[in-house]
Amino acid sequence: MTALLITVDTELSSSLHQRGVDLEDNVRRSIWAEAQGQPFGIGWQMDLLDRHGLKGVFFLDPMPALVHGPAFLKPIVGAIVARGHEVQMHIHTEWLAWAKHSPVGGRQGRNIGDFTLDDQIILLGLARQLLEDVGAPAITAFRAGNFGANDDTLRALAAIGIVWDSSVNPAYLGRECGISADPAQVGATRKLGVAELPVSGIADRPGGFRPAQICAMSAAEMRAGLRHAAREGHDAFTVVTHSFEMLSRDRQRPNGTVIARFEALCREADRLPAVHGAGFNDLPVDLADRPTRLFSRVAPNRLRTGLRVAGQAWATWRYEHRLVPA
Ligand SMILES: [Zn+2]
Repeated sequence: MTALLITVDTELSSSLHQRGVDLEDNVRRSIWAEAQGQPFGIGWQMDLLDRHGLKGVFFLDPMPALVHGPAFLKPIVGAIVARGHEVQMHIHTEWLAWAKHSPVGGRQGRNIGDFTLDDQIILLGLARQLLEDVGAPAITAFRAGNFGANDDTLRALAAIGIVWDSSVNPAYLGRECGISADPAQVGATRKLGVAELPVSGIADRPGGFRPAQICAMSAAEMRAGLRHAAREGHDAFTVVTHSFEMLSRDRQRPNGTVIARFEALCREADRLPAVHGAGFNDLPVDLADRPTRLFSRVAPNRLRTGLRVAGQAWATWRYEHRLVPA
């Protein structure tokens, strides 16, 4: 069986905050992703997942609590937990720029990997505390904002007892992601005391990598990647999306293309008997300690037709990513 982890980076927009958007409006636009009077955010995503018997992992960024207080987190955590999905930890250290009381002596950085090990231990411990204080069950997994982690992040996670990391995305290795990971690694491995489960993907060209992010792949590419993982018997297939990813870039309109891709993924997962939806707490604890197996990614040539369109979406995402930290 292949565990399908649909992971949703769930976060306020620091860029909207910077432009003067207040907390309530930011939560409405970034978490519940309301556009034209309809929600397309985590509530909509959970509806879709539930219809297909799947589970979401919501990597929630608590850092805006340093600016706005922690109360806004409570209804978000409450909704996820009440519906049987998983709350895990995400961090966007950009928010330290507006923190009333800095936990790290005023030091700042865009990514968690910009900080010393000692500061990372403080920041990650604080983030976990903020989530657990508003009712999140014990946090067991982490993903860095912008995939901006490094090896010290894994050491810090191990130091505070977080079991899983999912900050390795081969598309970001050597850029935002400074973890010394093998980009060809497909399954879970143990690294510096943490179980590392990288973001899944496909080979879009020989030696290339396209991440299994809903806005970055065509439905056909995602289907091919998931079917391949199931056929080879991969332990897990890890998909990435965001709480606001179903909206257009300006967050004013639903993005029908991305919505259709998410729906197609859920239908396909529902159809495949060898795939089941899972959170990190559903994974076997020894997953990262099993003997290395030679898993591969789906080969590039058979997908050529879909790549042009998907390439455009990916380019847009990368462009947006630089403008709007996500
Ligand atoms: Zn993020």
